[in-house]
Amino acid sequence: MEDVKQRINTKIDELKNDLVRSTQEVVRAKSVNGPAQPGKPYGEGPANAIAAALDVSQRLGFKVKNVDNYVGYAEYGSGKELVGVLGHMDVVPEGDGWTYPPYAAEIHDNKIFGRGTIDDKGPTIAALLGLKAIKDLDLPISKRVRILFGSNEELGSHEIEYYLKHDEQPDTGFTPDANFTAIYAEKGLTLFDLAMKFNRKASSGIKIKSITGGEVKNMVPRIAKAVLEADDADRVADAAASYKKNKGADIRCEAEGNQITLTSIGVAAHGAQPETGKNAIMQLFLFLDTLDLGDTDVKKYIHFFAENVGMETNGKKLGVYLKDDTGELTFNIGVVNVNEDEGRLGLNVRFPVTCSYDDFIKPFNKKLEGTGIVIENMEADDPLYFPKDHPLIKTLAKVYQDVTGKDPVLLSIGGGTYAKEMKNIVAFGPNFPGQKELDHQTDEYIDIDHLVLLAKIYGNAIYELAK
Ligand SMILES: [Zn+2]
Repeated sequence: MEDVKQRINTKIDELKNDLVRSTQEVVRAKSVNGPAQPGKPYGEGPANAIAAALDVSQRLGFKVKNVDNYVGYAEYGSGKELVGVLGHMDVVPEGDGWTYPPYAAEIHDNKIFGRGTIDDKGPTIAALLGLKAIKDLDLPISKRVRILFGSNEELGSHEIEYYLKHDEQPDTGFTPDANFTAIYAEKGLTLFDLAMKFNRKASSGIKIKSITGGEVKNMVPRIAKAVLEADDADRVADAAASYKKNKGADIRCEAEGNQITLTSIGVAAHGAQPETGKNAIMQLFLFLDTLDLGDTDVKKYIHFFAENVGMETNGKKLGVYLKDDTGELTFNIGVVNVNEDEGRLGLNVRFPVTCSYDDFIKPFNKKLEGTGIVIENMEADDPLYFPKDHPLIKTLAKVYQDVTGKDPVLLSIGGGTYAKEMKNIVAFGPNFPGQKELDHQTDEYIDIDHLVLLAKIYGNAIYELAK
């Protein structure tokens, strides 16, 4: 193995110019997802980037195929089994404030600058050049290898569903779209709404006109607002002031005539770690639950969440708590939209890697029975889990150690890398432990030394998986 590793690494050094040039070519194809056009499901940009990647692949001597502008791929080798490397050619919008033009792939200070250089064009092309080294050296491999160029990762990875319907699922492999060393566990992930129609409404006393707050389901909301109408506005204002004082909840109150606006201020956090934030929506619900809202549906709705969720972020009171060695279930209410006719909350629940969707949803459905609250717009991703001693994980960890000389760090995360979209693959790089992550940032770049090192790691990994 030592000899093969040396030969691959030397060959990559020889291919350095080709690696840099190929990366520049695909970065220059601006590939933000756009509206569908005939034959181009994600618009002009992603289709152009697939075309650029396939041009590069052909120039390097690979067979290529374009699966209807959803996914393109380069293939090499023969054999029944297939090793897949799944990268994506689409990018997020560049935004403002770039030092260098975002799609020129200019080189400054040994870095290639541009949207997509690290996420995910550079790393994908590094894998392609890793395969080129294996081909040029004519190393014996017993499996086919495919470098897959996806085109909708940034907007939900819907291209993979199409690809798997029309083409072949890899037997093993990796995606260069997250972190080294390897991510062996990703939680199951759900996004959904909890809605309720309000039939019984208030005729007098305190009336809730609206509650709004939060931007996305997978963030802990920092701010939530409620607009109320009350016969006795002063009483509500007094209640808010004393609640703030006694409970330490940051809820501000403005009254004008009989209209009251309550603003709840929490602490934002990522939906994968809701325990690190403070949920402004739930803070507001807990206060609203102390008001006399009469025998109304909005009261029922608010009370259900105040009683069964409160400031809790692991679903214990709801009876959906799950836990394994890699962590516990996380429960986040990210968005609220309540008006006089309907209540709607947007949620993000992530469940432990050895648990199933049913483990979460069955007790949840039971809890909701008879409440009038219904689940809508459910999107669910199964967890990803490979035991740490799985051959794929062991192979990738060993290659990483051999090539970098560093100890492997196996990661378990709250979920969702590109690896989840396809069975049998895991996330493997491109960001090193402690490295500043430039994905989606202004002035995104990839250092050319990093790019070359990636090609060495990925070339060796592909060889070890395909030999
Ligand atoms: Zn990415």
